[in-house]
Amino acid sequence: MDSVLRETSAIRERVEAVESRIRRAAERAGRRREEITLIAVTKKFPAPVIREAYDAGLRHFGENYVQEFEQKSPELSDLSGAIFHLIGRLQSNKARRAAALFQSIDAVDSARLATRLAQAGRSLEVMIEVKLSDEETKSGAAPEQLPEIIEALNRSANLKLLGLMTMPPWSEDPEISRPYFRKLRELARRYGLTGLSMGMSHDLEVGIEEGATHVRVGTALFGRRPKE
Ligand SMILES: *Cc1c(COP(=O)(O)O)cnc(C)c1O
Repeated sequence: MDSVLRETSAIRERVEAVESRIRRAAERAGRRREEITLIAVTKKFPAPVIREAYDAGLRHFGENYVQEFEQKSPELSDLSGAIFHLIGRLQSNKARRAAALFQSIDAVDSARLATRLAQAGRSLEVMIEVKLSDEETKSGAAPEQLPEIIEALNRSANLKLLGLMTMPPWSEDPEISRPYFRKLRELARRYGLTGLSMGMSHDLEVGIEEGATHVRVGTALFGRRPKE
């Protein structure tokens, strides 16, 4: 077997393994598998890896950087039905470029960015990233900012607000994430939002138990990310 084929079968096996983790977690939580969207996080991986994941059946992909995906996307224009999510921080001055590249902007963190996205004039799904930990490095809006961001998004008929996203402090222990996921669920309920993007490779089960509608999985599907 040549190396491309060997890689492809590795991805298929990993997709199957992640699928069964999602299925089992959903079952334990008394939820249906269809309620949960698997977003394959492909940052730092080249376009051919995204194509392999598509061939293995995945349709939702998460990228972190506008510029990186701008370079990869021309190679991927034939992947019909693929949905690309921007899951990394977006600067307002790149909103127009992002709106042209992605179908979903999952880390909206300010009313200003919401307004810029609305001005881009494209139909987009959006989620608001909420910062629930005190870590300096974490991006996201403070919970107190939610009303103003929601209002800015709702002013635009082009933007469809699905819900909230968060990223807890990283820990080997997935249980560390649980209180953050609970808090996100409570916030979403308070604002009548149903989407919850929470859970990654190491804590997707906890995310699903706490109500995740989207899990964002990189390492468990693709292995360790290449260095820049
Ligand atoms: C990289 C990244 C992920 C995926 O993390 P893994 O631990 O590799 O599954 C999920 N969400 C965001 C926002 C990321 O930046």
